Amino acid sequence: MNQQQDGLPRPEPRKFDAEILSKEIVERLTYRVGKDAANAHKHDWLHAVILVIRDRIIDAWIRTKKEFHDDKGKRVYYLSLEFLIGRLMRDAVSNMEMLDQMQEALASLGADLDVVAELEPDAALGNGGLGRLAACFMESMATVGVPAYGYGIRYVNGMFRQEISDGWQVELPETWLAHGNPWEFERRECSYEIGFAGKVEAAEQTLGTPGKMTWSPQERVVATPYDTPIVGWRGNQVNTLRLWSAQPIDPILLDKFNAGEHQGALRESNRASSLTRVLYPADSSIAGQSLRLRQEYFFTSASIQDIVRRHIQDFGDIKTLHERASIQLNDTHPAVGVAELVRLLVDEHDVEFEEAWDIARKTFSYTNHTLLPEALESWPVPLFERLLPRHMQLVYAINAHILKQVRKSEKISEEAVSAISLIDESGERRVRMGNLAFVGSHKVNGVSALHTDLMKQTVFKDLHSLYPERINNKTNGVTFRRWLMQCNSELTHLIEDAIGPAFKDDAERLADLNKFADDAAFQEQFLAVKFKKKEQLTTHLRDYCGVRIDPNAMFDIQIKRIHEYKRQLLNIVHAVALYDQIRSHPEKDWAPRVKIFGGKAASSYHNAKLTIKLANDVAQVINQDPAVQGLLKVVFVPNYNVSQAEWLFPAADLSEQISTAGMEASGTGNMKFQVNGAITIGTLDGANVEIKEHVGDDNIVIFGMDADEVTARRAGGYNPRDVIEGSPELKQALTAIQTGTFSPDDPFRYQGLIDGIVEHDWFMVAADFGSYANAQRHVDEIWKDKKTWARMAIKNTANAGFFSSDRTIRQYAEDIWKVGL
Ligand SMILES: *Cc1c(COP(=O)(O)O)cnc(C)c1O
Repeated sequence: MNQQQDGLPRPEPRKFDAEILSKEIVERLTYRVGKDAANAHKHDWLHAVILVIRDRIIDAWIRTKKEFHDDKGKRVYYLSLEFLIGRLMRDAVSNMEMLDQMQEALASLGADLDVVAELEPDAALGNGGLGRLAACFMESMATVGVPAYGYGIRYVNGMFRQEISDGWQVELPETWLAHGNPWEFERRECSYEIGFAGKVEAAEQTLGTPGKMTWSPQERVVATPYDTPIVGWRGNQVNTLRLWSAQPIDPILLDKFNAGEHQGALRESNRASSLTRVLYPADSSIAGQSLRLRQEYFFTSASIQDIVRRHIQDFGDIKTLHERASIQLNDTHPAVGVAELVRLLVDEHDVEFEEAWDIARKTFSYTNHTLLPEALESWPVPLFERLLPRHMQLVYAINAHILKQVRKSEKISEEAVSAISLIDESGERRVRMGNLAFVGSHKVNGVSALHTDLMKQTVFKDLHSLYPERINNKTNGVTFRRWLMQCNSELTHLIEDAIGPAFKDDAERLADLNKFADDAAFQEQFLAVKFKKKEQLTTHLRDYCGVRIDPNAMFDIQIKRIHEYKRQLLNIVHAVALYDQIRSHPEKDWAPRVKIFGGKAASSYHNAKLTIKLANDVAQVINQDPAVQGLLKVVFVPNYNVSQAEWLFPAADLSEQISTAGMEASGTGNMKFQVNGAITIGTLDGANVEIKEHVGDDNIVIFGMDADEVTARRAGGYNPRDVIEGSPELKQALTAIQTGTFSPDDPFRYQGLIDGIVEHDWFMVAADFGSYANAQRHVDEIWKDKKTWARMAIKNTANAGFFSSDRTIRQYAEDIWKVGL
């Protein structure tokens, strides 16, 4: 485990001789890939390189597993329906501290590490922030020494690949497994059966009580795990990410097949494998389809069966589970696990219901990620009951148990009782997964200070007043290995030259850079690194999507899922207003800008897809207008994913974090920008509030209403028309979009989108526009003063330490999981 914490010296850095590495690469190429160097394809080199790294990781992996086993300590299980992993090769080489030698080894073979690395598919088993957080946490848990397993689904098709065709988003399947996946190990011996539907019968004379029952599922599938090793920094610990794949129990029903009924024989097989075929591509909203609930139960049940089996194997007594296992629910997607664990304890291990409930509650903890009503999961009772009849009974039993307790306290109103209930009775009866996760957990956390406060005031108001100790905050973080050291080695070297290497093991040490913020020589070096990263992005975008941009301009970047609450529309409307301003006053000293957008829209989200088209239409007009050439350019980068992100964050000057206050739970993109020295223009939302506290008011540009003001404004009869009438600049921009200036081929294309702003403006685009435009003009002024800009940028990097996911994970370990590090 991590040696630094107990004060012991680290082991000597392992020596990876470049010469030995190059021999090994050729050896793997020959005997594992089956090619000689002369005939090897580029992908063969990638495969051989990964095998060399992998073999070294396996030694540490086996050692880590043995340590966990001998240690008999508590283990952490992180259940997440999404892991947005990205590429793993550079992560592994870098964390194993063999980057330089591997570069040298490949060069001696006439290959280039950067070129080979680009061939690796980007594992996108997630939508956005929530999935990326899970990936950062996996790496940080291995780094800070948490004995952890991640559990999720091995989707055959992860996030769709986005192409932009005539400005519109087109969704194409991504085949990340096409060339095989050398990182994973199939573990058939750890397979489990997962049941669905069927009937439940009382086992003994227990009718009417939540006692032992027998569930005979109508449909069964097999969950087979694939394990991927996750290396921590300096290779000290290697944890496991276990992803489940669904297989039919009986691949083809031979009797039917032989009887000529081929369709029927294959139907069951197809039904099973379709379970883990695709990731649901909706972010911050739910589809509510039965396949989704089946996916959730499938991976949760497999994971909990695995956890229970491991516990019994190691400790014998299932009743001590909570002393040895902590299960973290990443959002409500695995919340059915609460009922599943109770079911296994009661039905299969003869534990009394009350004791089973107590064990479950002590084992689980839950992270809430959103307050958006459309993203709070609930399932229609008939669907839940048909698919999971035994779990339905247990949900009722848990509900009765909780409500009985609650009614004992006299202060509680009937209204509060119905808010707490696991069943929403307000319309069609539904199972509330958030309430199930809350009552089934001993700790419930939000992901930024503001979001945690709002949780207490809104969604979980009544549950919070009943269980005031349960809600706690764990502000998100990101791993600085990937988001600073790997994607920005130039900045990493500069920092190391200035303050030494300690920040690589302890991100808080970045604070030592504060003393260089006013150092003229350091400022120049800092700006020179930024310019270099901007040149690299410029070249990349030319090759990747044929766009030409000027690295001397300010790179103003908004990259994240496209969503109305994230307000890409506010940014685009501002671009249009700025376009008007520049044309009206060409004589002014404008700060040249390149506005870069990137992000995917859920396939069913009409306004989000239209926003992508609008960004592209606006780009088309602005970029062709000689009047603003060299002053304003708009770019939409297709297929935003982790790999594109690694190009974009290091090259950013300005970070757009402009969500409607109260709607972004935390954000993590904001942190990746900050550590790479971009200045934030943002609202007081999510973790922006804490970024402001860390960098200081002078080093961030805040605008717009805060969360309380948004609430008050919505309640107080807000009329966007008044705002628009009062602002000629806004009115002109909206009118231009609405009347087809950017869509002459279809003048009414954006009528509905703009009507939304004019008529209700739920997301406060008009209300915040004036403040945003002023803030942008302030940004222009700072841009023209290079010393001020440099000082602010350095202050951002220097004060990013808090936003390392190592800090977040240490807090989870101490306050929630109670694992000593
Ligand atoms: C960090 C990250 C996100 C989250 O971005 P937010 O700005 O916090 O919404 C989404 N997608 C990718 C690829 C990321 O790397």
